[in-house]
Amino acid sequence: MEKKEREETISIPGEWPLNAYTFKADKVMDRYLEGLKNKRVLGVKCPGCGIIYVPPKPYCGRCHTKLRIDRTEYWVEVSDKGTVQALSIAEDSTVIAVQLDGADTNFPTVLREAKPEDVKVGMRVQAVWVDEPVGRFDDMAYFKPIEE
Ligand SMILES: [Zn+2]
Repeated sequence: MEKKEREETISIPGEWPLNAYTFKADKVMDRYLEGLKNKRVLGVKCPGCGIIYVPPKPYCGRCHTKLRIDRTEYWVEVSDKGTVQALSIAEDSTVIAVQLDGADTNFPTVLREAKPEDVKVGMRVQAVWVDEPVGRFDDMAYFKPIEE
């Protein structure tokens, strides 16, 4: 098939409800959740630019390549330890964005066992697992600070 040159860029006003897709891509999460069941955190490496997504997603946000969640060789195990990238402290809870060691992305989670005044970007943390993981996002119940 011959490629046609596009003469102009077309802009169409409208909304793109990205969050509507977040949890519909079940297959993307299957292997990730299976890993959690065994207290292992898995990420998927972008075949285009090489960054590692934890949790995985269907497309790379940086280079727009489709991530090959169907191919075992693109899955990598990362640590359950990581570094706080951002934080939000409320009266009764502290939410952090954590980047796990070996991953290039971060995700929001709850930090406990820390005094609010001690919580900082760059702080080292580790997942606290539930006793019997079942393959759910909250198998990593929360994160706590660690000394290294
Ligand atoms: Zn990429």
